[in-house]
Amino acid sequence: MSHAHDAQALPPLHVLGAGSLGSLWATRLYRSGQNVRLILRTPERLAAYQAAGGLTLIENGQAQRYPIPAELPDANTPIQRLLVACKAYDAEPAIAGVAARLVPGCDTLLLQNGMGSQQRIAGHWPGLHAIFISATEGAYRPADFQVVFAGHGHNWLGSPDQRSAPAWLHDSLQRAGIPHDWSPDILLRLWQKLAINCAINPLTVLHECRNGELLQIRGEVLELCDELALLLTRNGYHESARELPETVLRVISSTADNYSSMYQDVRNGRRTEIAYLLGYACAQAERQGLELPRLQRLLQRLRDHLRALGLPTD
Ligand code: NAP
Repeated sequence: MSHAHDAQALPPLHVLGAGSLGSLWATRLYRSGQNVRLILRTPERLAAYQAAGGLTLIENGQAQRYPIPAELPDANTPIQRLLVACKAYDAEPAIAGVAARLVPGCDTLLLQNGMGSQQRIAGHWPGLHAIFISATEGAYRPADFQVVFAGHGHNWLGSPDQRSAPAWLHDSLQRAGIPHDWSPDILLRLWQKLAINCAINPLTVLHECRNGELLQIRGEVLELCDELALLLTRNGYHESARELPETVLRVISSTADNYSSMYQDVRNGRRTEIAYLLGYACAQAERQGLELPRLQRLLQRLRDHLRALGLPTD
């Protein structure tokens, strides 16, 4: 079976959101000969993209530009394969902007961090085949339409409703060199990542520090882990709950020099994804009748902090 032939025969993979991760995925897929199209939000963004001559991927200090075709949300071709690479708060409105073009059963890969946006999308468009992704690769944009591949990692993909992977998925990602595995329990992966995020990121924002400095307030971190473990247990993730304190301390040590993504958002005056991270955890606890006072207080402090900086609190 010829993979090159298969890749040509596949309908385009539309990438909605040509930001950091969207560009990292799109450039790797395109350079491996695959049919990729970017969807940019406005005619102005499309004109700026065309003036830039494509997307530039900077990897190991080497820059390479790829003239990936791009279009607007209201183009009239159908969408059978979609990668949604917007921030969690933009994902649902972005899909609404292309909803008329989505074919029934469209394979829809959701790259959003945290939880909540994926579930809303799957609920709003039940005809789509929603695939949730837990991503630990790192990328950032030094300029428009340029992306730096900043950190190697992995992508766990899975269907929340236990459906199997689309037939094209593995070959396509493998040919593009995108590290991935199909996860039979993607919600577990997302919950684990969410819990780790809740124990680390808000504190790095409030203490304005690198991850490693949290070891100095280890007690506070471990108290949060206790409550997060209750939440994990309540949702059926007993083993993750048991391992959480150790996992969190290990992540803090192995990323000691890093600034968390939430810290970086706040530092750069950008809206955070708080509603899909700590906000989601607290809302979920409340819905399930769990009282988690330390987490609630942390959310309050974080919102006060954001408000004082003039940033959105949702
Ligand atoms: P980003 O750089 O801000 O990119 C988001 C892109 O979405 C932007 O280019 C934005 O357009 C675009 N967009 C928003 N609304 C749109 C619409 N209606 N139509 C078309 N495009 C639209 O964000 P990111 O860092 O790639 O993050 C994406 C998700 O991945 C987040 O949930 C993040 O937490 C997660 N994640 C990121 C990383 C990382 O290293 N970056 C790692 C793991 C997980 P404009 O350019 O016009 O603003």
